[in-house]
Amino acid sequence: MRGLDTTPGKAARSSENPPVIVIDGPAGAGKSTVAREVARRMGLPFLDTGAIYRAITHVMLSKDIPPSDSPELRAALAEFTVSFRDGRVFAGGGDVTEVIRTPEIDRNVSPYSALPAVRESLLGIQRAHKRRGLVAEGRDMGTVVFPDADVKIFLTASPGERAARRHAERLAGGGESDYDNILRQVKARDEMDTNRAAAPLKPAEDAVTLDSTGLSFDAVVSLVMEQVARVLTPAR
Ligand code: C5P
Repeated sequence: MRGLDTTPGKAARSSENPPVIVIDGPAGAGKSTVAREVARRMGLPFLDTGAIYRAITHVMLSKDIPPSDSPELRAALAEFTVSFRDGRVFAGGGDVTEVIRTPEIDRNVSPYSALPAVRESLLGIQRAHKRRGLVAEGRDMGTVVFPDADVKIFLTASPGERAARRHAERLAGGGESDYDNILRQVKARDEMDTNRAAAPLKPAEDAVTLDSTGLSFDAVVSLVMEQVARVLTPAR
């Protein structure tokens, strides 16, 4: 693990001060699966912020609102709500769990996510999930949304490996998939997410970067858990 923080922990967390663990990184780095497992092991809620940006994108596309700041966009943002129950995502009055994972949303999500009006409207929604501590994953968790997080991980992998994982997931889910197309899209999304002015994708200064290229899921989870233990265990 590159850049591993070896300083002893800040403080043990109490129930009044539950831990906040964030995992940021580019598309397809495995953030969701890793963050979900870390949350399970820690007994903490899991927050998938990509799902929130995807749900917004779905709502905007269904209302024919283009990705630019407009009164229509702001009105739709003002009434947007999202909730998570039993592993499912609800927004705009319905269950959007499957529809937010389609290639159409993959193609359209970055232009909406780049809009400051969209990002600002989601800040409160994301922070409201912090009350009981959490494991949150996204692009700007450590830099903007939870800058005081106890543990910050920047999880990455080579574009080829990230595209190969997405490709395998799609095929396993019974869907159609084209590796070259996915690789192009992964790169295009990285490019847009990294180069936008508002909350670009980048590691927080105090994040630990973990390159998961060639590592198994279990190995990545273990490395994250080691870092969590290192930071949250009180110094003796
Ligand atoms: O992680 P996921 O692939 O579901 O994210 C979808 C898109 O949502 C990203 O490509 C990015 O444009 C946006 N996003 C973001 N900030 C976050 C999480 C996701 O801009 N914290």
